[in-house]
Amino acid sequence: MINVTKAYLPPLAEYSQYLEGIWERGWLTNNGPLVQQLETDLNQYLDGSQVQFLSNGTIALQIAIKALDLSGEIITTPFSYVATTTAILWENCEPVFVDIEDQTFCIDAAKIEAAITPRTTAILATHVYGYPCDVLAIESIAQRHNLKVIYDGAHAFGVRVHGRPLLSYGDLATCSFHATKLFHTVEGGAIVMNDEELARNVWLYKSFGHIGDEYFTLGVNGKNSEFHAAMGLCNLPRVSEFIRQRQQLATIYTSELAGLGLQYPAPAEPSLEYNYAYFPIVFASESQMHQVKEYLLSHEISTRRYFFPSLNKLPYHTGADCPISEDISRRVLCLPFYQDLAPADVRRIAQLIQAACR
Ligand SMILES: *Cc1c(COP(=O)(O)O)cnc(C)c1O
Repeated sequence: MINVTKAYLPPLAEYSQYLEGIWERGWLTNNGPLVQQLETDLNQYLDGSQVQFLSNGTIALQIAIKALDLSGEIITTPFSYVATTTAILWENCEPVFVDIEDQTFCIDAAKIEAAITPRTTAILATHVYGYPCDVLAIESIAQRHNLKVIYDGAHAFGVRVHGRPLLSYGDLATCSFHATKLFHTVEGGAIVMNDEELARNVWLYKSFGHIGDEYFTLGVNGKNSEFHAAMGLCNLPRVSEFIRQRQQLATIYTSELAGLGLQYPAPAEPSLEYNYAYFPIVFASESQMHQVKEYLLSHEISTRRYFFPSLNKLPYHTGADCPISEDISRRVLCLPFYQDLAPADVRRIAQLIQAACR
C-alpha cells in the first residue's frame, strides 16, 4: 500500500542519543532543555524571537485567538483543514467566510473588505499547501481597519517570500508539526511571533495561566514534551534536504501528468521559495476525481480529498456561499507525496492516473 503521506523517522541511534540525555536528567516536560533548544533553533530558522513550541497546531490556533483577545467575527477561508474553522468556533467567535482566489486557493484579499463589519476583529487565513496568501494586501487591509492577522501556517514551514520566512508574517502565525507535515515532531505545533507581551500571554495560556504560585489568568495545557522536541531537533537540520527531494518528485509528477488538462495551484509571486509540502491536482470534474481515486485505490494507492468539504458547508456550521472554494474542493485530490517515495512509484502513479482518465 502506498499512503498519501509517510512520516520521516530519523536514524534511531540519533534519536536515542537524545533519549539518553532525557534519562540522565529525568526531566520529561515543562520547558526542559530540549524544548528550549528547539525553540532557539526555530527562532533562528523562522526569523522569530518568541517562537513557542506547543502540543499541536490546533491548540496553537485556539491559544492564538485567546492571546490576541479576539471576539465577534473573524474573517477566514473556507478552503483549509477543519481545525481553522473549529478553532474560531471553539473560542466563541464567528467565522465569516471569504471565498478563495482561483490561482493560489488562498483567501481572495480583494474580497475581504466587503466582508468587514463593525464586529470584525481579525483575519485568519491559511497558506494553502504552503502557497502564500497575499500577505502585503492583507497587511494593508488590516492596518486600514484595525484588525489582527493570524496565519494558519500549518503547511508553510520552510517557505520564504519577499526574502522572509512566510511564517514571520501577520501578528502571529501558527504552525503544525504533526507527523504528516513536512517538518514534524510526531505531535506538535508552534506560534511564531515577535511581540514580547503577546508571547507572555501565550506562555500563560499554554501553562494553566500561572507561574509558580502566582495565578494570572485562565489557561489550558498546551505545552509539549522533551520527547517531541527531540524528534524536532533530529528533523530540523534535514528540512532543506526534504524540500530538495520533494521538488524532484514534483517535477516527475508534473511531466508524467502532462496532457490531462489538470489544474494546479499556480501562485504568481516571483519571490516565492516553495516547500513542496503537498502535491494537489484538480480534475476537470468531480466524477473524474472519484474515478481516479477509486482506480488508484484498487492498485493500493491512497489519495486524499484535501480539502473537502469546503468549510462553509460543515454539517454543524454553515456560512455564506463560496462558489470557488466549493468547486475546487469537490475536484481536488492530493497524491502520495513524501521524500522517500521512489521516483519509479511516482511514475507508476502518474501512469495509472493517465489510464484512469482515458
Ligand atoms: C494539520 C493542520 C492543522 C492542525 O494541526 P494539528 O497539529 O494536527 O492539530 C491546522 N490547520 C491546517 C491547515 C492543517 O493542515
